[in-house]
Amino acid sequence: MNAVNWRIPLADIDFGAEEKAAVQATLDSGWLTMGERTRAFEDDFASILGVRHGIAVTNATAALHLACLALDLGPGDEVIVPSLTFVATAASICYTGAKPIFADIASDQNLNISIKSIESKISEKTRAIMVMHFAGYACDMPSILSIAKKYNLVVIEDAAHAPGAELHNKKLGTWGEVGCFSFFSNKNVVTGEGGMLVTNSDSIADRLRLLRSHGMTTLTWDRHRGHAWSYDVIALGYNYRIDEIRAAIGQVQMRKLKKNNERRRTLTSLYHNCLNELVPDVTIPFQKHPGISSCHILPILLPPLINRVPFMEQMKSRGIQTSVHYPPIHKFQCYRESDTAPITLPVTEEVAAREVTLPLYPTLEPPAVEYVVRSVSDSILEIQ
Ligand SMILES: *Cc1c(COP(=O)(O)O)cnc(C)c1O
Repeated sequence: MNAVNWRIPLADIDFGAEEKAAVQATLDSGWLTMGERTRAFEDDFASILGVRHGIAVTNATAALHLACLALDLGPGDEVIVPSLTFVATAASICYTGAKPIFADIASDQNLNISIKSIESKISEKTRAIMVMHFAGYACDMPSILSIAKKYNLVVIEDAAHAPGAELHNKKLGTWGEVGCFSFFSNKNVVTGEGGMLVTNSDSIADRLRLLRSHGMTTLTWDRHRGHAWSYDVIALGYNYRIDEIRAAIGQVQMRKLKKNNERRRTLTSLYHNCLNELVPDVTIPFQKHPGISSCHILPILLPPLINRVPFMEQMKSRGIQTSVHYPPIHKFQCYRESDTAPITLPVTEEVAAREVTLPLYPTLEPPAVEYVVRSVSDSILEIQ
């Protein structure tokens, strides 16, 4: 068995004739970057989320970086962020010269940033809170916004897992100043590489658009259409643009989002029921979580005495790909070394040591879910 030949992979894309036709039409149009498809994708995304602006970029890492820049984070500033997330969440803070301050997660039921831990990490230098909605389950945004208000902080949402997810009828990514989304190949909306920023602030949106495109005052598209022939550069910008091919795929994928998220939720309930029945000593996070999740991934926590490496090997021998979300960032060499006093985050460390992610994607079939859960049970028995 090789890595590309799993019986059940961890994630899979849902691409068909529509995505292919969209790519073909874009190639035939002869216009490949920053044109009407990008604008339409941004407008679709923003209207589905109920937010004023969508700004499409190359990937979510670039989105997070631009969010930090547009909110003027830089050297001397501290940003409170969870450690149990993908490394890009924290890296985007470091790119600006600001410092990530790692907070713990709430519990083995709620793998999102802990409100208590946020408050304990606030200092004179704190400027922002960057949250991540783990697997598409909402962080406690009302509490986070009230802390932000109390200490005069801005809030950035890493919503890479959470397109279409919501809390109290408000979409995730639209609670803070800026929300950031990913369209990487294993995410809920896929364009290959790709990302999106959302904001309700006109001035932040202007700033994001400027920084996305070299800090230039006019765009290629405007010049092409004869609206402008020159430009000034008014900020140190980047080339973080998406292209029309990806934007066209993104538009098609957005039309599938609602249905695919519903499918993910149905499969997640089936997983939870089967796991509770067959392996009750496995801990299942987010079982009674508030809001509507996008069910990006399916995390479980192995019983404390079960060794994860042989467990994952057992799953592999049954043709099932599993993963770990996440090795905590504060334990990585690069982040350990930048800290003079090593920190401990007890809940993060305990959960991260026991976490295994099971396969979840919209084209997964219910019998496959049952097979995965039987395999979890068999694998645990095998190595006990
Ligand atoms: C995927 C992911 C990112 C990075 O997204 P890219 O589009 O690959 O740059 C950032 N944060 C989280 C939580 C992610 O899952």
